[in-house]
Amino acid sequence: MEKIKMTTPLVEMDGDEMTRILWKMIKDELILPYVDLKTEYYDLGLPKRDATEDKITVEAAEATKRLGVAVKCATITPNAKRMDEYKLHQMWKSPNGTIRSILDGTVFRTPITIPSIKPVVKNWEQPITIARHAYGDVYKSVELRVPEAGVAKLVFDGESGKHEEVVIHNFKGAGVLQGMHNLDKSITSFAHSCFKYALDTNKDLWFATKDTISKKYDGQFREIFEKVYEENYKAEFEKRGLEYFYTLIDDAVARVIRSKGGYIWACKNYDGDVMSDMISTAFGSLAMMTSVLVSPEGNYEYEAAHGTVTRHYYKYLKGEETSTNPIATIFAWSGALRKRGEKDGLKDLMNYADQLEGACFDTLNDGIATKDLVNLMEGITPKQVNSKQFIAAIRERLEKRLA
Ligand code: NAP
Ligand code: MG
Repeated sequence: MEKIKMTTPLVEMDGDEMTRILWKMIKDELILPYVDLKTEYYDLGLPKRDATEDKITVEAAEATKRLGVAVKCATITPNAKRMDEYKLHQMWKSPNGTIRSILDGTVFRTPITIPSIKPVVKNWEQPITIARHAYGDVYKSVELRVPEAGVAKLVFDGESGKHEEVVIHNFKGAGVLQGMHNLDKSITSFAHSCFKYALDTNKDLWFATKDTISKKYDGQFREIFEKVYEENYKAEFEKRGLEYFYTLIDDAVARVIRSKGGYIWACKNYDGDVMSDMISTAFGSLAMMTSVLVSPEGNYEYEAAHGTVTRHYYKYLKGEETSTNPIATIFAWSGALRKRGEKDGLKDLMNYADQLEGACFDTLNDGIATKDLVNLMEGITPKQVNSKQFIAAIRERLEKRLA
């Protein structure tokens, strides 16, 4: 069989531990035999990040801006324990944080659903995608413990000399204070990424804040979304019969639970942190959650939502077999290859991505699964396999589909 051609390389970001092992298996077994793979390779494994003083991460992000599509393996975010384990020169920042701030993007997380794994919420028929605003609010706040009676004020000193102040509270005794902010530029980027991704995936977009209580702060979010929608996306949404739906966060939560799913739910930073864990848990397994970072210019970085699966890696190092689920990492590759195909007008590449995902579904629907899924499956008798056997089973079905 002739291999499927590519024209523009993908940015390939390799990673750490168990997912690095899976990365190579996926490439060797499921991609390289079928695709004439072109990538610009960046090793974001922790040893290489340390050796390059993390410049490699910045280069990989810059390459994504230049080439438009990236696929990333899970990476270690160092902590004190990792400093010793890897003899690091510095506690390097989270690569995802670095990449996100360079691309100024929004992360969209969508569960991969199969008939034999039922969501906890029984009326959810379609996956729900969570889009989390990843800048500001409580994550960049400053805080103060108030030790005694006194007055707290919010003060703004503009460069032009403009001065504004409001009293937060007249404390009669001890208490606590918090100051937070956000930026019009960041909220605008968030809005563009959300509307773009909704059009990309042909889904409705929901957005919610608490602007009845927070009239200025949350009101700013609502107004910016409305303006970006009216000026740039409304016509296309209407043409396609898609909906942009704004409501209050508590109303949104109630509607999400009652819904059939199938839409994108844009959340402010804190709401997104909390709700994405609820959504992924309710849909089944972290190992079945995809993640894509979309920049307001339309650059894409695909990855799995889970980490490097350290516990499995330590077993692997001892020579033990592991049943680590590669599905979300395979979908990162298929997502990136499909997007590359779309951008470059390569129908065969897009079809290959569909078939690769199809082969994963065929395998799971045949009841062949990794350990994490076996206990979740209903209505079929699952057969538990290790990662290698699982990937071999996917390859068998991929061969059939491509023949
Ligand atoms: P994790 O790698 O997501 O794994 C947590 C647990 O979830 C695993 O021990 C495993 O449970 C289960 N799990 C996750 N993915 C799985 C898969 N594909 N197949 C089967 N089971 C899976 O999170 P972590 O252990 O908290 O973090 C490990 C490292 O990953 C950390 O160094 C962290 O910094 C990094 N991390 C990176 C990213 C990223 O690059 N995007 C995201 C999160 C974390 P059992 O052990 O019970 O089988
Ligand atoms: Mg969280």
